[in-house]
Amino acid sequence: KAKAEGKGTFRMFEPALAERMLARSRMEADLRRALDVGEFELHFQPLVDVQTGEVTAAEALIRWRHPEQGLIAPADFIPLAEETGLIVPLGAWVLRTACTQAMAWPRAIKVAVNLSPVQFRDDRLPETVAGILKATSLEADRLELEITEGVLLDDEERTLAMLTKLRAIGVGLSMDDFGTGYSSLSYLRRFPFSKIKIDRSFVRLLPDDVESAAIIRAIITMGAGLGMATTVEGIETAEQYAFVAAEQCGQVQGYHVSRPLPSAAFLGFLTGLEAAA
Ligand code: C2E
Ligand code: MG
Ligand code: MG
Ligand code: MG
Repeated sequence: KAKAEGKGTFRMFEPALAERMLARSRMEADLRRALDVGEFELHFQPLVDVQTGEVTAAEALIRWRHPEQGLIAPADFIPLAEETGLIVPLGAWVLRTACTQAMAWPRAIKVAVNLSPVQFRDDRLPETVAGILKATSLEADRLELEITEGVLLDDEERTLAMLTKLRAIGVGLSMDDFGTGYSSLSYLRRFPFSKIKIDRSFVRLLPDDVESAAIIRAIITMGAGLGMATTVEGIETAEQYAFVAAEQCGQVQGYHVSRPLPSAAFLGFLTGLEAAA
């Protein structure tokens, strides 16, 4: 389009593109450096069993503690890490660190780790997971891999083979952000997921919105029928918590229980709960 508008426009357009490319390659180099020097950290957000009120798991959520820019959220660097393939070593770092930290927790709760589509396309993923479990001595059933619909491959056979290999290791497989994709229902039937995480978009209007309430109720019932645990994400208020607790969902996760916490604070949260009990 720029070309059709004449040479002048084209020349004006060029520096902006070059600038963007330069910014991108700078950030790529910055990401590599950050991985080398250890600027990434995991925060942990508790998952609470609504029947007992106990913390039964924690989700590991990556952050980049940038020397100049402060704490950077995953949405601002995971896409570039995926484009550049850096997500493969970074994802392995997340797995290793999550398993290592879980071994240091005072109780044998589970740890959940998010997978990127790029990691899922890598045939060595099952070996990587098994190797990290062995190296850290974490029992396989304490690890849950969180997989969104976008992580699954178009090739259904390869997807099933990958998920089956991961299940054979003994780790749990959670369908993350459930209800936001197009084929979530058929995926649940075809693939060996052990848990459904209901996306927080269904929670936002609770408890007053009858449609949201009906959908959440139906998903919890379906999960139970399929023998899958259910976690409701994004619980921000006491009213929302009370609603899903009454619906017999398995676990809740959200700011109402706790925000994601740096590992020392999470440890304090776990021990504080124990002291209070
Ligand atoms: P996710 O796996 O669905 O993680 C839940 C996100 O919701 C987290 O955002 C969490 O901080 C946020 N959240 C939790 N409770 C509440 C709540 O009550 N209200 C609201 N509004 N938000 C809540 P975060 O940490 O920014 O992560 C965003 C996404 O980035 C994650 O979504 C996940 O897809 C991805 N991600 C995070 N860590 C990793 C990682 O280590 N590897 C990969 N591949 N992706 C990651
Ligand atoms: Mg997740
Ligand atoms: Mg989610
Ligand atoms: Mg998400």
